[in-house]
Amino acid sequence: MEEYRFTCPRCRCNIEAEAPIPARNLHLLLGLATLGIWLVVYSFLRLFQLYQLSLCETCGKHSRKLLALLLILILGTAEITWLIYYFLEVAPPKIVFDASMAELPGNLDLNSDVSKDNAWQLFTFVWLVSILPGVGAMIAANWPYILLFWFTIVVLIGLSVPSFYLRR
Ligand SMILES: [Zn+2]
Repeated sequence: MEEYRFTCPRCRCNIEAEAPIPARNLHLLLGLATLGIWLVVYSFLRLFQLYQLSLCETCGKHSRKLLALLLILILGTAEITWLIYYFLEVAPPKIVFDASMAELPGNLDLNSDVSKDNAWQLFTFVWLVSILPGVGAMIAANWPYILLFWFTIVVLIGLSVPSFYLRR
């Protein structure tokens, strides 16, 4: 068994909890066999297990830091998955359509002063014909690296955070 120690966010008392020692070699082996996918799943499971262990028996509260960390990782994963899906599937036809419809704003006379109105129009134009397709192309070309980068962060956090709560 391994012993973990947390501090309750409400009553500040020490929480001590025991959990079986994880079979690290087995998880590494499964990680290799699944090209790392298992390590991502395992990281989430491990952090969730740690969150459950942090239950305060006096007042029924869990660690807020671990909850925040879990939420950030879950939302981040959802956000990045959506972003990649958007730029690979949803956006390309829409970007091509919008860019083909975009016109340099008619009232944008280069000699006139920049007003709130034409500055916004110019921004929309640059956004549609340059920035959005540029970002889209960048994400479409590099999405495996973006995903790999994010999941590396998830695994590093999932494998290192439990040791901060480990009682030695
Ligand atoms: Zn408490």
